[in-house]
Amino acid sequence: MLLTTIAGSLPKPSWLAEPGRLWAPWRLAGAALAEGQRDAVLVALREQETAGIDIVTDGEQGRQHFVHGFLEHVEGVDFARRVTIGIRADRYKAEVPTVTGPLRRRAPAHAAEVAFARAHTTRRLKFTLPGPMTIVDTLADEHYRDRRRLALEFARLLNEEARELAALGLDVLQLDEPAFNVYMDDVAAWGIEALHRALEGVRCTTAVHICYGYGIQANLDWKATLGREWRQYETTFPLLARSRIDQVSLECAGSRVPLELLRLLAGKDVLVGAVDVATARVETPDEVAATIRRAMAFVPPERLYPCTNCGMVPLGREAARGKLGALAAGAAIVRNQLVG
Ligand code: ZN
Repeated sequence: MLLTTIAGSLPKPSWLAEPGRLWAPWRLAGAALAEGQRDAVLVALREQETAGIDIVTDGEQGRQHFVHGFLEHVEGVDFARRVTIGIRADRYKAEVPTVTGPLRRRAPAHAAEVAFARAHTTRRLKFTLPGPMTIVDTLADEHYRDRRRLALEFARLLNEEARELAALGLDVLQLDEPAFNVYMDDVAAWGIEALHRALEGVRCTTAVHICYGYGIQANLDWKATLGREWRQYETTFPLLARSRIDQVSLECAGSRVPLELLRLLAGKDVLVGAVDVATARVETPDEVAATIRRAMAFVPPERLYPCTNCGMVPLGREAARGKLGALAAGAAIVRNQLVG
């Protein structure tokens, strides 16, 4: 009950990549990079285990960005043709690759990473992949010229990948869909369909992560425009409640999401963001416990998984370590009260 987990990413060690920024360039190359990434996974696993996190990840140490890590293994996506576009409805600019031809997975993208992480922890293991809609929103397309069609093509590739990864001993496979909070009409029109295709026949617990983004300035500015209450989830949760996805990961800590919206996810596991990634200030265990208790008014404890709001990759390592510890300690406070 109240098993803890994280959205996915952790900061990279400074010897591996430049700290404190997204799309941070690697500081190693070739075989040294591969070795450095594996070493960083060992550190990420150990830090989660030491903190007391129950369902751990590889900290996404093997990818430069949560979307482009997968795309680097896809034929038809040209990284030599990078263009700068506005993403997430033009909330911020990003340099993205271009789809120039039919999509095909060149080779398994993350199998070696999952096998390595699986071999080095006995805890439950989660792995994250970008969701089809978020992928489509994080590249330029000169070939398909139709977002739904492109999303369904990526769903096909993600499904091949997800089935293979689950077979390596994953407990949870999560698709990250921050774009679900931006294009709510598309979620209903084809977003859920694309998720279903991506996760069809995947033999482990399936999850989708929907957040208000990393704690970067463009996101903080955007949140300031969303009004007193953030009700984006009100549109998507009923669709997800009817979907075949097992778990929904969402943002609750320090946010203006009205928690009664969690009622709309009845029947699903809910990964409640009880740690804010938009601030380096480390929550106290009591603050984490208070967020969990507020969510428990709408989610039964056996379906509630205390989690982080989003990935922690842009944070400093000390802050991330502190937040892991606060998350586990806060969950333990509530758990002890429930069983006591
Ligand atoms: Zn997120």
